[in-house]
Amino acid sequence: MSHWQELERKYYMQTFERVPLTIVRGQGARVWDEDGKEYLDFVGGWAANILGHCHPAVCEAVTKQVQTLIHASNTFYTIPQIQLAELLVKNSCFHKVFFGNSGLEANEGAFKLARRYGKLNLKGAYEIITANDSFHGRSLATIAATGQPKHQQPFTPMPAGFVNVPFNDIEVIKKATTPQTCAVMLEPLQGEGGVTAAHEDYLRAVRAWCDQKGILLILDEIQTGLGRTGTLFAYEQYGIEPDIMTLAKGLAGGLPIGALLAKDKAAVFTPGEHGSTYGGNPVACAAGVAALTFILEQDVPANCRKMGQRLMAGLQSLKTKYPFVTDVRGRGLLQAMEFNRNIAESVKVACMGRRLLVNRLKPNTLRFMPPLIINRDDVAEALGILDEVLGSDKLEPSADNH
Ligand SMILES: *Cc1c(COP(=O)(O)O)cnc(C)c1O
Repeated sequence: MSHWQELERKYYMQTFERVPLTIVRGQGARVWDEDGKEYLDFVGGWAANILGHCHPAVCEAVTKQVQTLIHASNTFYTIPQIQLAELLVKNSCFHKVFFGNSGLEANEGAFKLARRYGKLNLKGAYEIITANDSFHGRSLATIAATGQPKHQQPFTPMPAGFVNVPFNDIEVIKKATTPQTCAVMLEPLQGEGGVTAAHEDYLRAVRAWCDQKGILLILDEIQTGLGRTGTLFAYEQYGIEPDIMTLAKGLAGGLPIGALLAKDKAAVFTPGEHGSTYGGNPVACAAGVAALTFILEQDVPANCRKMGQRLMAGLQSLKTKYPFVTDVRGRGLLQAMEFNRNIAESVKVACMGRRLLVNRLKPNTLRFMPPLIINRDDVAEALGILDEVLGSDKLEPSADNH
């Protein structure tokens, strides 16, 4: 354990199961550790470094902005905030935007907005239906929305007003809908829950059901948005439009930000009902404008589709070659590989030894969420390393939850 890792043990709350690697520098899809060793990064800042590390467009915009105006407060108008809101509205089906600093804040905003809508239009309805195996954040309300007992049980009682139902089943949503229901909230592709895509007919049926009942459809695109699944937003692939959407992770090219987007009919906040000191601050928004402009002008989603296809094809041939690989799935550059036993930790560690960083999503599942700007060589390199690792006979199943 290195000096810094020992200090972390001593001074930082032990909330993370960290990989024994201290990253000191990043460029594109590569990072370097304390000893100057280089790694190919298929964790990508947990899907936040959409444009890779230290992208020049983002660095330039941030440098300029920190020398001009770092923070002013939302009492005043600031230009990058308005520019980013305009860009988002012009490139989505939404009409209004609110910025926070993280994904969970965007989702908290969505809950409040849905409850306001319920008070104004649905006789006070306040319940939000969400899916099992979803992930919506780490605050009390967002873990109540997150349909995973392991996130809820240590912190009960949960805030009221959230109903978790099985994913990809329209009938359970219909059954769970009551006069108290104001919204349904889903991820189009569950990231943390297992890289599980919503079926096309499911999401369409949910949309139709929400229309029929006059309730809101909220999509959490914090992980899937900004090109990750091959289109700017994943909802585009389903031929539906949500009423509310949340974004975060990649939106500011690696700086902290969250965004709540809504159609006019759902954008019902009035002055004083919601706010944030740092939300929409000039630096994060300037980074967001630079990142989103690059994504749009360079058609980053197209590269994501192409590289995603190569990665999927490669993972599929590894599945054919190694019978203990039982499934590969995902869209664009959000993919997973599942094994017939709990060797994901062992595979992850062996990959790291060969200078490839991947995420162990579950004891038997790896996740790949590289920057969307990776090229063919990066994909080939990652697949080559995986092949070597899967072909070695040293893969040990891990104890219980690893
Ligand atoms: C990461 C994530 C969140 C939470 O975002 P934070 O910025 O960590 O609060 C919420 N929803 C989804 C789908 C996510 O992937």
